[in-house]
Amino acid sequence: MYKKYYGKPKMRLNDFRLSVIDKPLPEKPANTLQIPRRTNPIHTITRITEKDPNGRMKRKHCRQWYRQKKRSDTTWHCVACNDKPGVCVECFYLFHAQL
Ligand SMILES: [Zn+2]
Ligand SMILES: [Zn+2]
Repeated sequence: MYKKYYGKPKMRLNDFRLSVIDKPLPEKPANTLQIPRRTNPIHTITRITEKDPNGRMKRKHCRQWYRQKKRSDTTWHCVACNDKPGVCVECFYLFHAQL
């Protein structure tokens, strides 16, 4: 009776603790630039094809520059975004990474 009481419960507790400590740390997910796919399946940068009343191609302000309190015109936009924001080629990934 004495032996039974002494042996089992303590061993189990120790085993449990050891198994927790020995577990390898979970691998961190790779920190890659991914375009969020919550609202639209595919974001694609496209030339603006709309024309203004004078028959010239419309330009839009690049949204990414706008975020940085700068202004720059672009002839590119993303048609998959809700309001077809203007965004230049070099800003395309950055812009979508921060959506
Ligand atoms: Zn987009
Ligand atoms: Zn830009």
